Amino acid sequence: MNKEQKFETQAVRTQIEPTHAKEHSTPMYLTSSFIYDDAEEMRASFAGENNRHIYSRFSNPNYQELIDKVCLMEDAEAGYVFATGMSAVFSSFAALSKTGDHIISCRSIFGSTHTVFTKILPKWNIQTTYVEVDDPASWEKAVQPNSKLFYLETPTNPGVDLVDLEAASTFCKKHGLLMIVDNCFATPYLQQPIKFGADLVIHSATKFIDGQGRVMGGITVGKKELIEEIYAFSRSTGPALSPFNAWVLSKSLETLAVRMDRHCENALKLAEFLSTHPEVSWVKYPGLKSHPQYGIAQKQMIAGGAVVAFGVQGGLEKGRSFLNNLKMCSLTANLGDSRTIATHPSSTTHAKLSEEERQKVGITPELIRISVGLEHIDDIINDIQQALT
Ligand SMILES: *Cc1c(COP(=O)(O)O)cnc(C)c1O
Repeated sequence: MNKEQKFETQAVRTQIEPTHAKEHSTPMYLTSSFIYDDAEEMRASFAGENNRHIYSRFSNPNYQELIDKVCLMEDAEAGYVFATGMSAVFSSFAALSKTGDHIISCRSIFGSTHTVFTKILPKWNIQTTYVEVDDPASWEKAVQPNSKLFYLETPTNPGVDLVDLEAASTFCKKHGLLMIVDNCFATPYLQQPIKFGADLVIHSATKFIDGQGRVMGGITVGKKELIEEIYAFSRSTGPALSPFNAWVLSKSLETLAVRMDRHCENALKLAEFLSTHPEVSWVKYPGLKSHPQYGIAQKQMIAGGAVVAFGVQGGLEKGRSFLNNLKMCSLTANLGDSRTIATHPSSTTHAKLSEEERQKVGITPELIRISVGLEHIDDIINDIQQALT
């Protein structure tokens, strides 16, 4: 681990020690457990007196490489990896909260995280109050004596609204709240919330970290004492990543910077194209000057990301026919893939929300979300153009 190197170099050069074979590229450690030379070494390992691996539900060299890399990228002290983004989200909350705690969360959050807050954590009497992403002054009203943490995503899904990380950190410090950021849309390359004061950062590695729609994974990084609690919880409850997926994800990170540069370049070109299209009523992209929070994007992100939201003239019916007319772009639930993906949130991912809940998070019937891929921009624009007209 080299803290002096630049992001791209860390992404490529952070590797665990080679084995006796001196391989250049890290091998896969597809093993459930690890062996000891004698009883004393085994005893010391179980007692936590040495840094030996024991069992892949706890740790594995492939997890370690991925954790080390993301910690360098996010400027974090420690981390732990999980089977999915949701197991990272749930295990982090479960490890850090207790019955009677209160969570303050921005309203625009990933659908399954919303289910964890509204259906699962209440089983243990952990209640959540939602606040508006773009109104930090209103957050104060949600604070209770038992408030434990503040949770946010920025940019949000699917509306690509932004939360001001500096304002969030000031708010958390004032009230002694843990600040937890789901940094999935921005990736560690475009935004590092810990530099703005976040205590923990969570990723669904399934998205841009894999970047090619192959494997699932999740990671939480941040303050060492918090990660120790999350590790202790996870070691016994078993949300561990597979070593194979950890290997894939660490390899994927080697190309994160080049991939994100192109994703962002394509997304900006698509957003500019859509801005001038007569069939499009509005476009939202953090890299466009017309984004209502463009100033915040400039402050906390190095580019606008890969997700563009826009409204088609003609509402729900037009939105559905737009999806039906696409020839190249994929219709699928994922995002952060090398292939461009189009979704219509109000009839799919967010269909379970009530009309009122959708309105509150800005999921209007005409909203289309594009996760812009790595195809040539001309082909992406051509497909979207012909589907619109
Ligand atoms: C996909 C996603 C998750 C959940 O990740 P999985 O890997 O699908 O479990 C959490 N947060 C955001 C913002 C996501 O896009």
